[in-house]
Amino acid sequence: MTVNSLNSLKSHCLGFPRIGANRELKKITESYWKKIITRDELLDAAEKLKQENWQIQKNTGLSHITTGDFALYDHILNTTIALGAIPPRFKPQQNCSGEIDLAFQMARGNPQQNIPAMQMMKWFDTNYHYIVPEFSPDITLTKQPSNVVLDTKNAAKLGFNPKPVITGPITFLLLSKNYNNSNQWNYLDEITEIYQSIINELNDSADWLQIDEPILCVDLTNETKNLFKKTYEKLNKNKKIKTLLTTYFGALDDNLDTALESGCDGLHVDLVRGNQQLDSIIEKLPDNMILSAGIVDGRNIWRTDLSAAFAKLQKIQNKIGQERLAVASSCSLLHCPVNLNNETKLDPELKSWMAFSVQKCEEIALLTDLLDGKTSEKILEENSQIIKNRKNNPRVVDPAVQKRCTSITPEMLFRNKNYAERKISQQHLNLPILPTTTIGSFPQTNEIREIRRKFKNNEITESQYDSFIQNAITDVVRKQEELGLDVLVHGEPERNDMVEYFGEQLNGFCFTENGWVQSYGNRYVKPPVIFGDVSRKQPMTINQIKFAQSQTAKPMKGMLTGPVTILCWSFVRDDIPRADVCKQIALAIRDEVADLEKAGIKIIQIDEAALREGMPLRKCNADKYLTWATDSFRLAASVANDQTQIHSHMCYSEFNTIIKWIAQMDADVISIESSRNKMQLLEVFQEFEYPNEIGPGVYDIHSPRIPSVEEIITLLKKALQYIPKERLWINPDCGLKTRNWEETLESLKNMVKAAKILRNE
Ligand code: GLN
Ligand code: ZN
Repeated sequence: MTVNSLNSLKSHCLGFPRIGANRELKKITESYWKKIITRDELLDAAEKLKQENWQIQKNTGLSHITTGDFALYDHILNTTIALGAIPPRFKPQQNCSGEIDLAFQMARGNPQQNIPAMQMMKWFDTNYHYIVPEFSPDITLTKQPSNVVLDTKNAAKLGFNPKPVITGPITFLLLSKNYNNSNQWNYLDEITEIYQSIINELNDSADWLQIDEPILCVDLTNETKNLFKKTYEKLNKNKKIKTLLTTYFGALDDNLDTALESGCDGLHVDLVRGNQQLDSIIEKLPDNMILSAGIVDGRNIWRTDLSAAFAKLQKIQNKIGQERLAVASSCSLLHCPVNLNNETKLDPELKSWMAFSVQKCEEIALLTDLLDGKTSEKILEENSQIIKNRKNNPRVVDPAVQKRCTSITPEMLFRNKNYAERKISQQHLNLPILPTTTIGSFPQTNEIREIRRKFKNNEITESQYDSFIQNAITDVVRKQEELGLDVLVHGEPERNDMVEYFGEQLNGFCFTENGWVQSYGNRYVKPPVIFGDVSRKQPMTINQIKFAQSQTAKPMKGMLTGPVTILCWSFVRDDIPRADVCKQIALAIRDEVADLEKAGIKIIQIDEAALREGMPLRKCNADKYLTWATDSFRLAASVANDQTQIHSHMCYSEFNTIIKWIAQMDADVISIESSRNKMQLLEVFQEFEYPNEIGPGVYDIHSPRIPSVEEIITLLKKALQYIPKERLWINPDCGLKTRNWEETLESLKNMVKAAKILRNE
């Protein structure tokens, strides 16, 4: 069987951002939630947005546009609904209103009726959160109308050449969670049947179907591989539409044969993160399979080196033939902002180095034209100039930073003494047993946000701004003293975001106006861009912290964001290893630690909220990452004297696999999330004795609920079974920025009361 060139897939992206160039999706969904627009108006606006996205892809010259990637909230949630895998607590909703409201309730819960939302998880190692499918014995699957079918038919009718995308059944099931002793694999046959029927419905409106199985880029058991094989045999039987098995976020490695034997008509591979797999894939690719080469990075904002990409594609083409090669983005462009042309304030030179989703589609189309001989290689000259300009540009390379990085000595990664000895040196802090503290931020009112906005837009003077911030700090300090907390914070009123605040003050960073990326549902983030060597211009936090300390006799924590977290939540340059960028950031934070200490600050917290999410997808790469990540933290922290107490905070509780590494960070005190899972995490301490001090969160700051004194005492008693009282701290799960004052004060009052009761016992 040869590939029919009439309907050959030549160029495509694996998915286009759904949010709109001006965050239209957020605006329409929020207006609908606030009842400003009706359901029909919402659907009309969504339809318009969808079609605009198709039109953009078509205009750039891609052979196929992607359908089924759009979702009002989340595309995995849409799959869950299409399969009818509705958790019973939402059943009444399903019966009485349309599926849109059902989707929103599943994603957001229903506080009035006390129905909790479904859980959210990060999509592989991205910052996109999907709604986790739930399986429990009382779930019965039934096929529901699926938006991918509707959208594909609609697109075809409108004259587009659609390539629908669905999340593959194995990825879907592996990412699901079981409740009440359920086993998701028991549903595999039923799910496969529903997928078969969806494929049937698509047969006549498209020639290619993209099936996403990113799970093939992680470690799989033989059992899963067998299930994969069985399932794809069924899916590929008796179908007219051609199937493209898409893998991304890494290399296939030991899953390559599973992919090649799937019976699909094409395989997509990520050549950005998994370039090393290319040769073996070309060698093994069966004659009747096409290769979709994911050569344009979907996870970043840099322009592609088109000459290098073209050379690589030519090499593939020579081996497998032109009809069997498609050019593509490495993964969905969901993880990339929409349109660079909307950036009006970005420095022109920096802007010339970048490409957002629209520009990436143009790159894909251009590479395809080159392969087809439709355009001459002369067109690459401009791109080559830009790539050359970026390399070794004086704005990128700072010899002083490079020199400093090469002169890092091993001693710089260690405190002078070990924890036990430091503890003695830190007695001057005069802390009670079971000390209470908070994680850093206090409620950010509209007033604070308004002041920051005005200052940014030059509507108020610097001194007006400073005095507002000082008042906010004084107020927060007074409230903490009244509450009776032991270690105070300044409340972070000057920070819009814990990474952006530091990025704005560091060399090597730049910021976009509109570079939004969906984090979940209506929540988008605008990551800073690290384009060059990073260094500190001047102290970044000293004024506020020093002022805050001057307002109280209690110890004030200096609040910093750690190097790994700054790295993970930015778009990072791709011309040097991430580990090296992280080291540079660590040196900048190290300087800030030294300055805080000089300013008389005795406790410094370096948040590493993102340490765990930077973990590589394959287990074999974990140690390498954890080594440089924890080294970077220690490089930042270890400049501190033994008398200075170093804290760190981590926003998650799934610790078990990395607890040894957390211990290696050697922070004097860490605070972690835990109240939601009722201290289950502490069981890890049964096997591993965490050597330093630790504060498992006792107040779930993701919920408006106020924890009672008794409840907090129960949690702490549980913690005391694992952690000796000399090493236990009492604190909330995370920062209080998103809570309101009333709840916060009430909850912290209970927390302090619980501490007092326990101390007396
Ligand atoms: N110090 C930060 C705060 O309290 C920590 C936030 C976080 O962990 N995400 O807001
Ligand atoms: Zn946190």
